[in-house]
Amino acid sequence: MSKPTVAIVGRPNVGKSTIFNRIVGERISIVEDVAGVTRDRIYSAADWLSHDFNLIDTGGIDIGDEPFLVQIRLQAEIAIEEADVIIFLTNGREGVTDADEQVAKILYKTKKPVVLAVNKVDNPEMKDMIYDFYSLGFGDPYPISGAHGLGLGDLLDTVAENFPDPSEEEIEDDVIRFSLIGRPNVGKSSLVNALLGEDRVIVSDVAGTTTDAIDSSYEYEGQKFKIIDTAGMRKKGKVYENTEKYSVLRALKAIDRSDVVLIVINGEEGIREQDKRIAGYAEEAGKGILFVVNKWDALEKDEKTMNRFNEDIRKNFLFLDYAPIAYVSAKTKQRVRSLFDLIVNISENHSMRIQSSVLNEVIEDAIARNPAPTDKGKRLRIYYSTQVAVRPPAFVVFVNDTELMHFSYERFLRNRLRESFGFEGTPIRIITRARS
Ligand code: GDP
Ligand code: GDP
Repeated sequence: MSKPTVAIVGRPNVGKSTIFNRIVGERISIVEDVAGVTRDRIYSAADWLSHDFNLIDTGGIDIGDEPFLVQIRLQAEIAIEEADVIIFLTNGREGVTDADEQVAKILYKTKKPVVLAVNKVDNPEMKDMIYDFYSLGFGDPYPISGAHGLGLGDLLDTVAENFPDPSEEEIEDDVIRFSLIGRPNVGKSSLVNALLGEDRVIVSDVAGTTTDAIDSSYEYEGQKFKIIDTAGMRKKGKVYENTEKYSVLRALKAIDRSDVVLIVINGEEGIREQDKRIAGYAEEAGKGILFVVNKWDALEKDEKTMNRFNEDIRKNFLFLDYAPIAYVSAKTKQRVRSLFDLIVNISENHSMRIQSSVLNEVIEDAIARNPAPTDKGKRLRIYYSTQVAVRPPAFVVFVNDTELMHFSYERFLRNRLRESFGFEGTPIRIITRARS
């Protein structure tokens, strides 16, 4: 279930972001586009042959005013912490430099697999450039060219061979995994403590595939939960833990491992840009979503306060109109327990299966009420629909011509499905296919 993570490390200018973009390809998401984060993308889903993984460009994580060498060492530490396999990138045209050796020194400390790549080997005659790099002590260097896309296949084959076996925790089907995501100080750790309560039936365990993440297991009214660890929730201490890029990275990783994501907003401060980005990522990743407005105790409230907050959230997260909103206080524990019920409900919706017969009835009924549009005299015809996936629910709709399915009609169908089946808290997908 959980995908392995690969990190690229190396000193500046060896070609990390070039390689990152090569491997990730054209996966620029709608949300990134809207939020304008494309240019500083450092984390993305990627795949090679049948392997899905997440890729991190550690070069994009800048760590305050630290000197150059400290920065690259910290980036190497982040790779060790966050990745299952590390690509150590060097520049063949410049040979082994002091900075490469500094990176190597940090990487010696890890047992995680490190694959050494020598970039800018732009043509086969330049292959001799790699020999120098044996001295770094990571075995055979892989010659590659980010500029020309050479050698990446062999490199990724080796990277994939080093992926860990899928861990057992991920096979447990009866566990609801959720994470609390939000900016520093919104109250994530306080909420976890309040959720777990005094009678902490808490087992901290080290997850297999995802490095050293500390997740908490909990059982509530017969339902098992796993609270996915995020950076803000563990003991602080490392220099880079307070940097924004790093905490975003941790949040995205936690989202990937969750069924349901609790987007925690500080009631005293309201919504910030970063909240929107992260929520957008959760939606794209197809996760169940719950808004949690915390510190509700600290607000001066009148009868309109909650409505204003509701409106504010709806206005800022237009694409998440299906996500419920809970108002809680980790401090007084007000309504904290109710979060469990909401999470269970969202999780059920997230994995809901609709019988084809029922589904088709609803769609036929929808068409009868609001006939499908025509375009240049041609009318969209919907023949048959079926659910093809859960988590999130995805529906394939077979039509005469996919071009005729306009965004607005798809939205209409989506709304009809929501009205008929609920789906509170979960995204749903509609895929249009031409019937052959
Ligand atoms: P980063 O700082 O490690 O992320 O490096 P960049 O990806 O920004 O690349 C640094 C420079 O090296 C850019 O000018 C790239 O165009 C160039 N570059 C990257 N890969 C190659 C390559 O395979 N061959 C050559 N000749 N130049 C490359
Ligand atoms: P995190 O960084 O998101 O994990 O936030 P913390 O749980 O460390 O909380 C940050 C600060 O907010 C701490 O001083 C908490 O005591 C305070 N805090 C957390 N939840 C609440 C709440 O519900 N009400 C009030 N008044 N303060 C809270």
